[in-house]
Amino acid sequence: MKKIITSLSSALLILFASLSLTAVAKSAEFFTIGTGGPTGVYFQTGNAICKMLHKSAISAEHGRKKGTAKAYRCTAPSTGGSNYNIGQIAAGEFQFGVAQSDWQYHAVNGSSKWEGKQFSDLRAVFSVHNEPFQIWARKKARIKDFADLEGKVVNIGNPGSGQRGTMEELMKAMGVDNSFFKSTTELTSSEQVKALCDGKIDAFGYSVGFPNGAMEQAATCAAKASPINLTGPEVQGLIDGADYYAQAVIPKGTYTKQKKDATTFGVKATVVTSADVSEELVYLVTKAVMENFDDFKKQHPAFGFLEKKNMIKDGLSAPLHPGAIKYYKEAGLM
Ligand code: GLU
Repeated sequence: MKKIITSLSSALLILFASLSLTAVAKSAEFFTIGTGGPTGVYFQTGNAICKMLHKSAISAEHGRKKGTAKAYRCTAPSTGGSNYNIGQIAAGEFQFGVAQSDWQYHAVNGSSKWEGKQFSDLRAVFSVHNEPFQIWARKKARIKDFADLEGKVVNIGNPGSGQRGTMEELMKAMGVDNSFFKSTTELTSSEQVKALCDGKIDAFGYSVGFPNGAMEQAATCAAKASPINLTGPEVQGLIDGADYYAQAVIPKGTYTKQKKDATTFGVKATVVTSADVSEELVYLVTKAVMENFDDFKKQHPAFGFLEKKNMIKDGLSAPLHPGAIKYYKEAGLM
């Protein structure tokens, strides 16, 4: 008899446990923010946004009346980067993504890599840190400028990354193709530093926020690498020809043994979504970041210079999502 009661009560326990799990799963809506390689700044950006949202979700859940406000749960996995993220948003697989301002522009306008694949439902939420386009070269390769890359082994980045796209735009402006280099590799941002340190490649091109731990590793490993200057009429032509490019400087001393400023061109990292994503969700994500702003800025040193008033206009070529506008108006930012 005792045995029957015990097994009955454990059966009931299992039933209750699975019922309450179903209740949790039903009340929370899951969504995804596409980022970049695990050693980049996008990965930290996506995860910082999730952290701010979960933080405000917790406080909202404590104070809320039963049955109000849906709980949202977010994940920010590592991905192939900007163009991959925009493609996943267009396919409805991701609800948000981090993307370079140049690729945001091309996707919404159907230009460059997005020719014939225009994604006019792309929407902007806010911009984040600056991303200078950087060519990092190992010391022994003696590369001082773009011309010195001739006959060298260069990582042009994985397809789908923003760095790959921007490297190709730079090559176009310089009037060269892959045959200019001895050979090219398509390593991801997290693979390229190891390859440089191991002497397998001479240089890589990367658009990323600074300071960045992976670049410090490139500066301090056996490669003793540093970012080169990207200047001259071709680069100036890129800057003059597009609003999404601007001159950018990585100040001397940003990285170990970096004795001079590195002058180049750059883009902005931006957070994007789709017109199909609900106003409620975009509003909550925007609000979570803006109302926990000091905490958000502490999540990465590249966020140190962020200012709300710039984030709602700089680097944004897609229309702002109505959920973001709703928050900016409510907060008096617009
Ligand atoms: N800008 C890079 C890209 O779109 C990613 C940089 C990062 O991960 O921080 O591929």
